[in-house]
Amino acid sequence: MSSSFTTLFRKTAACPTSQGLVAYRSSLLRAADEAYVDSHLAACDFCSAELQLLRRYRREAEECTFAEMPAQLRRLAETLLKRSTVPFKKFAELAENRQVFH
Ligand SMILES: [Zn+2]
Repeated sequence: MSSSFTTLFRKTAACPTSQGLVAYRSSLLRAADEAYVDSHLAACDFCSAELQLLRRYRREAEECTFAEMPAQLRRLAETLLKRSTVPFKKFAELAENRQVFH
């Protein structure tokens, strides 16, 4: 019995995508698509479980903010980025010199 459960508990080609389930959860689907997902959820344990999971983590996933970069880290990043342009500058000079010889 458990083996048949594991073979049936999976996404199939008939399943809506995860993005589709997110849209369904947020009531963003067209009426026809929403009706399809409604009927699919009645028959598919996997998608029902996925939808429950999506509902549980709805707020945490959508409300993300970016923290301000600490000043020391910003200075370090800017210093490293300035250094990283030096090889490109030399390469550019090399390219200019090659043009002189041609
Ligand atoms: Zn499904």
